[in-house]
Amino acid sequence: MANNTRNNTNNNNTTTNNGNRSRGGGGEDRCSFCGKRRTEVEVMFTGADGANICDECIENGHKIMVDNDLVSPRRAKAAPLKREDLLKPAQIKEFLDQYVIGQDAAKRYMSVAVYNHYKRLMYAPKEDDVEIDKSNIVLVGPTGTGKTLMARTIARLLKVPFTIVDATVLTEAGYVGEDVESILSRLLQVADYNVEQAERGIVFIDEIDKIARKGDNPSITRDVSGEGVQQALLKILEGTTVNVPPQGGRKHPDQKFIQVNTRNILFICGGAFDGIERQIARRLNTRAVGYGRIGSTEQIDRNNLMRYITPQDLKAFGLIPELVGRLPVLTSMEPLTREALRAILTEPKNAIIRQYKRLFEMDGVTLEFDDDVLDYIVDKAIEFKLGARGLRSICEAVMMDTMYELPSTDARTFTVTLPYAREKVEKANFSGLKQVG
Ligand code: ADP
Repeated sequence: MANNTRNNTNNNNTTTNNGNRSRGGGGEDRCSFCGKRRTEVEVMFTGADGANICDECIENGHKIMVDNDLVSPRRAKAAPLKREDLLKPAQIKEFLDQYVIGQDAAKRYMSVAVYNHYKRLMYAPKEDDVEIDKSNIVLVGPTGTGKTLMARTIARLLKVPFTIVDATVLTEAGYVGEDVESILSRLLQVADYNVEQAERGIVFIDEIDKIARKGDNPSITRDVSGEGVQQALLKILEGTTVNVPPQGGRKHPDQKFIQVNTRNILFICGGAFDGIERQIARRLNTRAVGYGRIGSTEQIDRNNLMRYITPQDLKAFGLIPELVGRLPVLTSMEPLTREALRAILTEPKNAIIRQYKRLFEMDGVTLEFDDDVLDYIVDKAIEFKLGARGLRSICEAVMMDTMYELPSTDARTFTVTLPYAREKVEKANFSGLKQVG
């Protein structure tokens, strides 16, 4: 801003401290607000009646406006999406492959959905044209299988604002918690209050299963009218204009709202849907008996019933049909196998082991892991039922002492051996965590 102003030195009412003054009296005049001299400030503006204001007071005034929510949102045009930005689904998947191990089916679904989202944004329909529906997504799968990671990775790739919200903090208006509109406040914040930019963003709603209404499913303990939250969410998913409190949180009467249209916002929902396999099994069995087909022509993978999930199962779990209808892309995440866990340790671009090596490298130390250590870490993650999430905590337990001690020594290499890793993990006593998961 100061630069713009300085360029304006031909403007009759502006003076800069380099003496480029075009109107007004001698060097003695001061800012009418803070009293500083013209020579003490960067730029001084002079009003028609001779009053002055300096750049610092303008800055301060602006800050007060921002702090008090008095600045109107930027209706600035969002930068147009360019054709060359439009990655093909196979390219999107290739990018996901660098960070997320396995989950091929889910990656393909995600890639296509994101590709279509971009196309929707790029080609605004003309009159009478076919209007393309949004392809909001539900990712179903056990915790720690990479749902959030997948969404985060997509965010790295995209040039649209992206935010992650937790459905468990959302409540119906009037309850303690956050209104559903707060989702859009966050998106606005990430978009730096550029409304048009926010209006084409992507929102990842985690733990969508936790707002299921209480059904026969015993694993659902939450009430606070999950259904009310679902109704509120439905409106946003459908595409509507929402009055959003700029700073999030509760609405209060004298707050200024920003209007955000959600028609082009893509929603990706994730959830573990604990216990939904029972429903899937029930459905599959009924079909098998009813038609005598599944099981004879197609072998059911009993270890991964989740892959047979249908919208009907989400309804049976307690999501309202209208909401399920607004989430047309449904895909599941596979439980992570031993091989997948082993690969997660070393293969992704920012794999845990690579991160430790990099940390040591910064101290000029070469860090190595014996192969059997990596197998041991995986075994422990499985034994403690910690899944991929546990890999990191087990690695931390193994590495903590070294990370503490090594920087104070002259060592240039360090190799983690199996006896060393075993000793550290036993010392850390993970048994308390065994119940988790
Ligand atoms: P979810 O959202 O399904 O509960 P997360 O995406 O938060 O699981 O995964 C937790 C951590 O486990 C991630 O930060 C990542 O390090 C690791 N992880 C999980 N699944 C994968 C995967 N398929 N590929 C690579 N890392 C994974």
